Amino acid sequence: MKNMKVAIIFTGGTISMKIDEKMHAAVPSLNGSEVMTFLPNIEEITDIIVDNYISVPSPFITPDIMMDLSIKIKDYVNREDITGVIITHGTDTLEETAYFLDLHILTPKPIIVVGAMRSVSELGYDGPSNLAAAIRTAISVDARNKGVMVVMNGDINAANEVQKTHTMSLDTFKSPEFGPLGIVDNDEVFFYRNSTHVSTYIPTTQIEHKVYLLKVVAGLDGELIDFFIEKEAVGIVIEALGRGNVPPMMVDSIKRAMDLGIKIVLVSRCPNGRVSDSYGYDGGSKKLRDLGVIFGRNLSGQKARIKLMLALGFNNNYEYIKEIFEKV
Ligand code: ASP
Repeated sequence: MKNMKVAIIFTGGTISMKIDEKMHAAVPSLNGSEVMTFLPNIEEITDIIVDNYISVPSPFITPDIMMDLSIKIKDYVNREDITGVIITHGTDTLEETAYFLDLHILTPKPIIVVGAMRSVSELGYDGPSNLAAAIRTAISVDARNKGVMVVMNGDINAANEVQKTHTMSLDTFKSPEFGPLGIVDNDEVFFYRNSTHVSTYIPTTQIEHKVYLLKVVAGLDGELIDFFIEKEAVGIVIEALGRGNVPPMMVDSIKRAMDLGIKIVLVSRCPNGRVSDSYGYDGGSKKLRDLGVIFGRNLSGQKARIKLMLALGFNNNYEYIKEIFEKV
């Protein structure tokens, strides 16, 4: 087992936080080496490289930071002595960063994103156990060719399936439609399956920033789409109702956006299930598809936005964007 090296890139989040006594609220406090002191014997299992990249709460993480992080990870995975890479991250935007990396890095080596729900100051700080499980996964031969994974609370989930499902539970990262890829049981790593969908690699160095996400609610009209047009949107993700339907009052603005060449990707605000062209009424998913709206399968709105930012950064061509979202 020795001679393997795992690089751990620290970005911050609750795993690196303490409760500030004056504010009675958690703030970034610990660097990577300080977090690693909670895992005193880990060097017996594998050599570790601690990389103190940044220390921020995850609401501070932007797609530009994700791109920079991705380039850094590629440098590590290209090194022969590196077995796998772990990224510590705040849990709030963790699934977006994990999915970005899944779309942007092509490697058989395990890349694992990990965080904690309780800070160092709280009873039951889950950082060390999550990090230990991530390290076990990073050195597992079975973890190769599995895409980017999220390891939390003993579960291994695929970046393209996982969601943060609870605001405070330790068992928050789940893939409700499919279940975990595997588990970490003490020092053993077991995989039950591969991910349901291999994310298409997007080999871009640019991201398109002018991509907006809109959640549809009962009675919504086209005003927000008009606003995005005014802001010179290049792409819009619509988190639609049910199977992919919108109120009829939105349709004219959607048409106008499409006529201007804005790429529109439709996903559902339901946490599970695919969009489909099942409904033929005005604003129904079939009518939207006939207009040329692209279907984003069962992606969440936040993941579809990340994918559209990367895809448009690579190639603003309708057929390419459609293919990358709709192909199985
Ligand atoms: N608000 C924190 C963050 O995302 C939550 C966490 O890390 O669990 O940085």
